[in-house]
Amino acid sequence: RPTTDAVLEIDALSKTFGGVTALDAFTMSVRRGDIVGLLGPNGSGKTTSFNAVTGIFPPSGGTVRFDGADITGLSPQKVYAAGIARTFQRSRLCLPLSIFDNIMIGNHGRLTKGLWFNLMRRRAFRREFEQGYEDARALVRTFSTALADRLFEPVGALPMIERRRIEICRALISRPRLLLLDEPSAGMTHDETTQLMDDILDVRGRIEGLSIIIIEHEMGVIERITDQCVVLNYGRKICEGPYAHIAADPEVQRAYLGA
Ligand code: ADP
Repeated sequence: RPTTDAVLEIDALSKTFGGVTALDAFTMSVRRGDIVGLLGPNGSGKTTSFNAVTGIFPPSGGTVRFDGADITGLSPQKVYAAGIARTFQRSRLCLPLSIFDNIMIGNHGRLTKGLWFNLMRRRAFRREFEQGYEDARALVRTFSTALADRLFEPVGALPMIERRRIEICRALISRPRLLLLDEPSAGMTHDETTQLMDDILDVRGRIEGLSIIIIEHEMGVIERITDQCVVLNYGRKICEGPYAHIAADPEVQRAYLGA
């Protein structure tokens, strides 16, 4: 696998919390345009790897390279500005605010002034507001035409799947080249999950060069949407490869069955 093809290269990344090794010399890479599934039992280090990559906390060891640049230990703002956006397992939407305002919160990393300045300023500078509106609308339309006509409704009135779509739009409005999705199917029904995964595949197809890492438990989902998979157990990588390869691996099966 040529390194020039890799958008993200994680090398020997470690994180310890007190005596607990949450991530142990974890190495993986993501090719441009791929959807990579990050799997493993609860507590295996999946979210910790997202947090170490996105600057939530500095890693205890190892390096992270993005588009060839060393981004190890950079602040969340700098990682975001470099082109990596994420969603969180627990929704971070502001429910009383509109769909539009929630999405524009995702845009403030690109702007020089603060978030509130920009939220207020849109009333004064109509053209910028209209540009933001068109961007947000076009993005939401890739998920749902109906939703794109309701940008000024409060997010709190939407069902779970629509909220997930809005969270992904908020991450995508900054035009990232890498999107990290932390268990987007959490709290959704099987049918909703299937729909959302269709959306994610569709978005990947529409945004040239976008790469995605998705934390997901349901094997059927992983099989359908990933190009590559990486499996963690107790903070260590135990297997990687296409779904068919990892699903047939005895160590992966043991980790999942707890045997
Ligand atoms: P996963 O996402 O695979 O469920 P996590 O990355 O959340 O696993 O957790 C991996 C291990 O690190 C667990 O043992 C967890 O308790 C520990 N851990 C994660 N975050 C912290 C933290 N902020 N402080 C202390 N321990 C943590």
